[in-house]
Amino acid sequence: MGAALAAIAFLPGLALGSFLNVVAARAPLRRSVVHPGSACMSCATPIAWYDNLPIVSYLFLRGRCRSCGETIPWKYPLVEFLTALLVGASVLAFGFSAEAAVASFFCAALVAVSVVDLERRIIPNRIVLPAAAVVLAAQTLLFPSPEWALAAFAAALFLFLAALAYPAGMGMGDVKLALLLGAMLGRTVPVAMMIAMIAALVPAIVLLIRHGSAARKMGIPFGPFLAFGGIVGLFAGDWILDAYLGLL
Ligand SMILES: [Zn+2]
Repeated sequence: MGAALAAIAFLPGLALGSFLNVVAARAPLRRSVVHPGSACMSCATPIAWYDNLPIVSYLFLRGRCRSCGETIPWKYPLVEFLTALLVGASVLAFGFSAEAAVASFFCAALVAVSVVDLERRIIPNRIVLPAAAVVLAAQTLLFPSPEWALAAFAAALFLFLAALAYPAGMGMGDVKLALLLGAMLGRTVPVAMMIAMIAALVPAIVLLIRHGSAARKMGIPFGPFLAFGGIVGLFAGDWILDAYLGLL
């Protein structure tokens, strides 16, 4: 039953992913996400609805614009697929519930922020701040407790201090992203932060081995790692925290 619902949720998840592609492309430029409709980035020809279906159109067009033949970046179908997977996982984990809707919204914000941070090295306020506010309000309404606000504040403060100590590694965008993580995850937000830092160590070590001391200047955007930690925290945070506390 849960798996069937998750499979059904996959389709609106694809549509949401398609919308996130628009958000990630336009929000950093302060352009409207609803108007005008999508157009080819290369030849500016408006894209017809049948060429704008998530994943399907990409496969049907073999990754090329129908008008000019320019390659369509594979990040578009990837974002669509990833978003649909996360929406499906939210329904599988939390049932067909308000909690699943908030979890899906949280995942969607993380996907959009990650795409923008990878492409532009910024975490746009106009995505992360409204997302944090919505998640904080929703969690506090669904599960009345100061936990969500406290965790948001604590996680942001922790990264703020880390950014002061190590300015090359983190920015204020990461601090705002920590607000979103804390508002969603509550007491399990330390799990997400730990996983983000451990995951970010891997490329940092690879760069250090390859480029030696020059690697210090090659900043790696931290946002996608925070997003990864947030998603692991969302689906496995309680389990990891209990396992960890059990070890002590
Ligand atoms: Zn084109």
